Amino acid sequence: MYYLKDHTTGKPFIIKDSGLPFSTPDADAASFHAEVLGPPWVTVEWLPVQPLDVPFDRTIIDELATNPGPYANANLQRDNGWWQRSLDQIDGVTIHHTLSDSPHATAKHYLTKGGGRPTTPYTVWVTQTGEILLCVALTQGLWHDSTGHRNSRLSIGLAGRLHEYHPADVQLDAAAKLCVWTIQSNTLPGITDISQIKGHMDVGTYKDRTECPGWASAASGNWKPDLYDRMEKLLT
Ligand SMILES: [Zn+2]
Repeated sequence: MYYLKDHTTGKPFIIKDSGLPFSTPDADAASFHAEVLGPPWVTVEWLPVQPLDVPFDRTIIDELATNPGPYANANLQRDNGWWQRSLDQIDGVTIHHTLSDSPHATAKHYLTKGGGRPTTPYTVWVTQTGEILLCVALTQGLWHDSTGHRNSRLSIGLAGRLHEYHPADVQLDAAAKLCVWTIQSNTLPGITDISQIKGHMDVGTYKDRTECPGWASAASGNWKPDLYDRMEKLLT
């Protein structure tokens, strides 16, 4: 595994449409020019990457339906989709439950909601069996937590109706691993502390109107401490 380091900024080079560090088995070229989000052309080089730096088990970006517009929402229409952010503008994580086990059906559902949305509202999907799926590039500033169009939070959806039942251990372990990665990884330098990991019900304008991610309900066994305990263990 290799990633590309941008000599202009000193930061890892991220491919625009995947949000993942670029990897290749061919590391023969020491440096070359490539098109990136910032300056049109920069010099980059191959560097070895730690295998665990990216926690996603799979990317399913290309499998999910998207909506190129037009959108009823004026901000989405103006920007031709979600606000595009740089990785260092991401300053927190919002945990959701998805009420579903199908990221594909969920993506289709949201594309027509509220006059049309560009993609699924979950950047990362954690299955009930603990698989971590990248659904949308990290640079897409999608909103699903009422914190606005220029959304600087990372949306993580835990599959299931987690206000009705307790998540499985494997799902909580995967979610904790993913959250700790956001704190520790250089990929997201704006997230450095566990206090930046919050639930949907704890952020945004409508925070009193949702019980998402369901972690404070009696039926689900109040699983919020269970998730944070796992994070704390990984951080120590
Ligand atoms: Zn939510």
